[in-house]
Amino acid sequence: MLEWIARGLSKRRVTTRYPAHTEPGPPGYRGSVSVRDAGGAAPELARVCPTGAISVDGGDIRLDRARCILCGDCVRAAPERFAFSERYETAARSRAGLIAGGTNEDEEAEPARRALGEQVRALKRSIHVRHIDCGSDGAEEWEIQALWNPFYDIQRLGFFLTAAPRHADVLLVTGGVTGPMRAPLERTWDVMPEPKALVAVGTEACSGGLAAAGGLVAGGVDQVLGVDVYVPGSPPAPIAIMHGLLLAVGLLREEPSA
Ligand code: SF4
Repeated sequence: MLEWIARGLSKRRVTTRYPAHTEPGPPGYRGSVSVRDAGGAAPELARVCPTGAISVDGGDIRLDRARCILCGDCVRAAPERFAFSERYETAARSRAGLIAGGTNEDEEAEPARRALGEQVRALKRSIHVRHIDCGSDGAEEWEIQALWNPFYDIQRLGFFLTAAPRHADVLLVTGGVTGPMRAPLERTWDVMPEPKALVAVGTEACSGGLAAAGGLVAGGVDQVLGVDVYVPGSPPAPIAIMHGLLLAVGLLREEPSA
């Protein structure tokens, strides 16, 4: 027992202080892909991307981060055009916000977000999160689970997991929504009380991912329900998901440009 107390005292605090303090990604961390030089590109450049995230229109590069699986093929093939960003903050409040050069704002969702933020403050920041897996490969679930470990400890920010949708304020959805999961997803959302927010986590939830081409999934959560915040990544890191949750309940305003 004394040994554990001594060990705890010697290590001091290990829990991240995010979002009060920035949490830098480790060297080489792949948070997202950014476009360094978007003009004058040849159409063939789009072929380097195995997921169709890159397109070239009139010489201009368009990169859809919702479809990016962070494989790195584009960075290796054209480092003068693409680069990895080590930032964790990749979430966007609109689908357009995930396109390089797009806008992050979804003005229609703003009143609901403000109402949820006011409720969070009124309830002393207690917010209940329901997670539903709609056909994920399981990677996002590991990252979501990590949010409640001693390092990330998202409970210090007032987020608690709940199994009861009627008690939930935020719905975290993973997976591109397979046919059998469409109705359970809709039922879960319907019984959640207002105000509420929906956060799509991972490439599959944001766009359907690689499975979308086969027609086995709806092609992203927004094909079934309105999404308040998109957290791209395959899978996104726990801090990236935390950033998305804070955006969804109106406790953070800042978003990166794509
Ligand atoms: S890192 Fe993303 S954008 Fe680049 S080739 Fe891979 S999937 Fe496409």
